[in-house]
Amino acid sequence: MSREHTVVLFIGPPGAGKGSLSEYCERELGWKQLSTGNLLRKHISEQTELGKQIDLIIKSGKLVSDELINAIVEQWLLASCSHGSTGVILDGYPRTIAQARSLNSLIERALMRSKLNVVRFLVDDQVAIDRISARFICENKDCQAVYSALKHSSMKPKETMACDKCQSPIGKRKDDQESVAKDRLSMYRKHESDLLNFYQELGMPVIECDAGQSVDNLFNEFKTLMNIH
Ligand code: AMP
Repeated sequence: MSREHTVVLFIGPPGAGKGSLSEYCERELGWKQLSTGNLLRKHISEQTELGKQIDLIIKSGKLVSDELINAIVEQWLLASCSHGSTGVILDGYPRTIAQARSLNSLIERALMRSKLNVVRFLVDDQVAIDRISARFICENKDCQAVYSALKHSSMKPKETMACDKCQSPIGKRKDDQESVAKDRLSMYRKHESDLLNFYQELGMPVIECDAGQSVDNLFNEFKTLMNIH
């Protein structure tokens, strides 16, 4: 593979704005995003074999097996890099040390010229929970645009309960109900320090951004931190 790619890992709790920042990067920078969560929800809605296997796991806020996720990401990353995207975002991956190891070995094996950047989203648990409680997503699984019902949010849909982009209905994710969201958040916190230690031990800087701010401000901070002009 001859071109150089920037592979950016978005590491942060649910409700941190990883998906929203990814949308900006796709629209404004021409990057590509893989949200493992979006991809898994698509499998569930299409009732594929994989979708049937993972439906209950996702509803309950548990993690899908490392083997399964690693295989999906490997396939996507190899395809995206060979199709010439300069920037690719992995949103919600890796979530465990086993996933981080698998990604590293993939990069060493097949994507030697990729530059890996680790971006950590800093946000208070309560802010994350409030955002999740007010979050709606487009029910069209090829879209899954994210909206917010929070009072001062810039992410409100223009029409009530319809997606601005594709006019499909918008609704709540099953795993965004408060009790499941809290479990997802503690699952994230359980793995967070191990993941960060893993990258620190590899000597890889972890870029920290303030994910408590609006997504417009977050995008500006992200570009500054990443040296993008
Ligand atoms: P998300 O959309 O990132 O909040 O992910 C929704 C759900 O998909 C998670 O709660 C997990 O059940 C599953 N999932 C997404 N990404 C991963 C991953 N990297 N490893 C394991 N499970 C995942």
